[in-house]
Amino acid sequence: DSSSGSSGFFSKRTFPGRVPAGIGRKSLRIVVTGGAGFVGSHLVDKLISRGDEVIVIDNFFTGRKENLVHLFGNPRFELIRHDVVEPILLEVDQIYHLACPASPVHYKYNPTNVMGTLNMLGLAKRVGVRFLLTSTSEVYGDPLEHPQKETYWGNVNPIGERSCYDEGKRTAETLTMDYHRGADVEVRIARIFNTYGPRMCLDDGRVVGNFVAQVIRKQPMTVYGDGKQTRSFQYVSDLVDGLVALMEGEHVGPFNLGNPGEFTMLELAEVVKETIDSSATIEFKPNTADDPHKRKPDISKAKELLNWEPRISLREGLPLMVNDFRNRILNGDEGKGL
Ligand code: NAD
Ligand code: UDP
Ligand code: UDP
Repeated sequence: DSSSGSSGFFSKRTFPGRVPAGIGRKSLRIVVTGGAGFVGSHLVDKLISRGDEVIVIDNFFTGRKENLVHLFGNPRFELIRHDVVEPILLEVDQIYHLACPASPVHYKYNPTNVMGTLNMLGLAKRVGVRFLLTSTSEVYGDPLEHPQKETYWGNVNPIGERSCYDEGKRTAETLTMDYHRGADVEVRIARIFNTYGPRMCLDDGRVVGNFVAQVIRKQPMTVYGDGKQTRSFQYVSDLVDGLVALMEGEHVGPFNLGNPGEFTMLELAEVVKETIDSSATIEFKPNTADDPHKRKPDISKAKELLNWEPRISLREGLPLMVNDFRNRILNGDEGKGL
């Protein structure tokens, strides 16, 4: 058992009656908060397929049962409707904490980043298990360093419209490190850069989802501002591989997990047009306040210490989400707003 030496999380908790998870490894019972969401549901698929037991905690604020319905009836899968802002008692081996109202239209409504993270850290402390926080590139704010390394402290407006998310995640990172130093909880921190793929919310304002849905609906793609701001887009399976590598590795982080390929919004619109419909058009709209001008991860740390790097380029990844979006739009099953 390669991980028992330094972590102890295999040895501290043992549960009877587990299904073996492949040769040489005990199956784990893993909590995924936010597991009914976009990233969470892909992570759950990976954990289940390698033989682990998964308990999803989700209040369906932005997540959907449809993202997990293929697992209903699997004896290694459980789904609990619960708001992580409230305490919960569970006996588990690992905690992936993803629950968060993650998109611009949702994130101002909820104290999940602070109270939810505190409760999950309390749970990790009580049962003595490893805790992984999904933080965000937004902790770098409108960065004055480019590309962003993990050592950069960020340029965040504490009182702006996005602050609830940016500062919420910064606080979540602080809490995570405090529990690590003060209560000896084993923690891992991922700073996730813009990610896309099937099951993304359709109407939550994220740019890739917006453009793809708009082109399928034969509407113009809404480019905010002059469209020259940049982002780096990571396909969801690359992110999930990175999260698992981080959880199982021996380094706390924080680690940037993102695809360093950098695109302006105008370039992204062009790729979406080439991928889905060559007659697609764009329209310019005013940009939101405090929109970061550029963003691109420096992923040397994750490459070196986690042996991880993304494999799927934007041109390869975009076609992989089009069918899912088309089906949901045609079926009127568009996910929900508030
Ligand atoms: P998502 O909205 O699809 O998933 C978040 C999930 O958390 C949803 O299922 C939602 O219902 C659930 N949730 C929200 N508040 C909750 C609460 N109080 N109690 C229980 N469940 C709650 O978003 P996502 O894109 O899958 O993001 C997952 C994580 O990754 C988030 O922590 C997000 O901040 C982080 N992240 C994502 C991206 C990205 O590009 N997708 C980028 C940076 C960071
Ligand atoms: N908590 C939880 N489940 C647990 C253990 C703790 O939800 O299994 C919550 C607990 O209710 C508290 C938070 O996590 O609100 C922090 O717990 P901790 O024990 O660190 O703090 P304390 O309760 O001592 O203030
Ligand atoms: N954006 C855009 N059109 C849209 C939605 C977003 O041009 O329909 C821009 C937005 O102004 C920002 C970039 O796309 O500069 C990425 O926005 P998103 O909300 O997806 O991610 P984040 O700002 O959190 O990186």
